Amino acid sequence: MNRAAKPRTTYHWRISHPLHPAVPVNADTWEEAVAKAAALWGVPFAKVAAMCEAEQKTPMTVTTCPKCGREGFNNSDQDGWCDLCRKKWKAERERVRTVRRKYWYELPKYNGGR
Ligand SMILES: [Zn+2]
Repeated sequence: MNRAAKPRTTYHWRISHPLHPAVPVNADTWEEAVAKAAALWGVPFAKVAAMCEAEQKTPMTVTTCPKCGREGFNNSDQDGWCDLCRKKWKAERERVRTVRRKYWYELPKYNGGR
């Protein structure tokens, strides 16, 4: 995995249309947002594009997980690791700690009694 974890900004949109319910989509551009909304409504992009309105446009930071390359949103801690990798890392750290604790706890037993 040689992808640079360079954060980029995308937007969270809420696209509305007179004939369709407003839908939330994540997209970099207005065109992409409308295309995604049209796909959610199951209608052709060209048919709805002109009448679409953005009720909401919120910037979001997209981070690429340096471990697995998955994209996540606003993961500022753990060097931009995704939730999955962070969970794995936490589990692994906990496992190592338990092993270490056990080792130091049991060490005197092995050293002593000789
Ligand atoms: Zn990951």
